[in-house]
Amino acid sequence: MTGTSAENGSDTPTGTPSVAVVGAGAVGLTAAVDLARWGLDVTVFDRSGVAAGATGSAAGIVYDAYAEDVDAALATRAIERFREFSAETAPVGAPETGPGTGATTTFQFTDCPYVIVARAGDEQTAEAVEASADRMRHHGLDVSVVGPTTLGERFPIQTADVAVAAVAENAGWCDPESYARLLAGRADAVGVDLQPTTAVGLSREPRGVTVGRVSRRFDAVLVAAGAHTGRLCARADIPLALKPYRVQALTSLGAYDGPMLYDATAGFYCRPHPTGLLGGDGTEPVEADPDDWDEAADDWFRNDLRTGLTHRLDYRPRVERSWAGLCTATPDGDPLLGEVAPGIFVAAGWQGHGFMRAPAHGERIAAQIAESLGRPVEGVTAGVESFDPTRFAGDEEFRIVEGITVE
Ligand SMILES: Cc1cc2nc3c(=O)[nH]c(=O)nc-3n(C[C@H](O)[C@H](O)[C@H](O)COP(=O)(O)OP(=O)(O)OC[C@H]3O[C@@H](n4cnc5c(N)ncnc54)[C@H](O)[C@@H]3O)c2cc1C
Repeated sequence: MTGTSAENGSDTPTGTPSVAVVGAGAVGLTAAVDLARWGLDVTVFDRSGVAAGATGSAAGIVYDAYAEDVDAALATRAIERFREFSAETAPVGAPETGPGTGATTTFQFTDCPYVIVARAGDEQTAEAVEASADRMRHHGLDVSVVGPTTLGERFPIQTADVAVAAVAENAGWCDPESYARLLAGRADAVGVDLQPTTAVGLSREPRGVTVGRVSRRFDAVLVAAGAHTGRLCARADIPLALKPYRVQALTSLGAYDGPMLYDATAGFYCRPHPTGLLGGDGTEPVEADPDDWDEAADDWFRNDLRTGLTHRLDYRPRVERSWAGLCTATPDGDPLLGEVAPGIFVAAGWQGHGFMRAPAHGERIAAQIAESLGRPVEGVTAGVESFDPTRFAGDEEFRIVEGITVE
């Protein structure tokens, strides 16, 4: 016979600590699957379905090319996990129903080098590319610095005005939504209760979530609610230094079989895509309202990208689809990952890089939660010290700075 919340302060059977995860994006689902694999009782809530937030809008560019050692280690671990998951099949569910409708999806990670280009005349960026590549190599990453001739010999890139480029070999692309769907299938398999059409609020006392007027108690709550994370926490009197902002992307018809590319001077990126090419950036560095923002891409973004792609790749896009999505910024550009109040954890503030490190961030925060509940996990570091969300009071004034940059 098992007891429930009334006796134990948790809505789940006795003995097993319970965790609520708010958000069925790449981060929340990764954490949920890991927590359940380690024996915890996990419920995932999403108001709009699997991958309904930024994960479903992401470009799916993945690389380990980070100049900071912590980021590089997390990105390396994330790629390792993406490769482990690659070619796995999982049940698919419509966003409304979650897994279990009989159909399946396959997640595929496609290896592809990532090239960062700086233009002649833009010395600051060229120096930053070289310096950050040096630091990446220092962390053991497979990154080389090449001039225009070598670059042009290897890749179909227009190099006449290239000053310098960095080429990161441990990189690739994938469809982020299929990652989330794979993880939703895995979640189902390891006993996670996935509630994909349930908007929740956060409750500190009693600890847990609220569904409408009903409180549900949990031993720990992970808020991985993307652009809504700040608002959700603020309503529970937990201020976070976190601002949502718009970024944009498009897919284009017309084959592209070059590398993944980031033109650091022009500020756009692209990669191969099943329809031809996927390109993006279009950062709008102003705070967006996560409940009232424009999901359509802007003309200026499409025009700028057209100019950039034509110039750099001699590629004239024929836009198939374009869209905007929300990313989250923090005062120092590092994520907020950890405990913000007793038993309440957050995972947000990815500055446009949240998908590519989700398998690692999700794993680290899951290990931190498990440890806090008396279930330490051998072989997995709990949390990331420098991402502790309490390093900010939450009321800091700060400017939104574009996430994809070279420093
Ligand atoms: C156009 C675009 C391109 C991008 N390209 C890349 C890229 O190439 N590489 C990369 O690494 N990153 C990229 N990003 C960033 C990346 O998408 C995000 O950092 C990452 O997906 C965040 O995942 P998440 O799980 O933290 O949040 P999300 O995917 O946003 O998930 C949060 C979930 O929480 C749910 N939610 C919110 N409020 C509630 C509530 N009250 N109750 C229940 N559920 C709630 C939402 O419905 C949502 O499903 C891109 C983003 C955009 C917009």
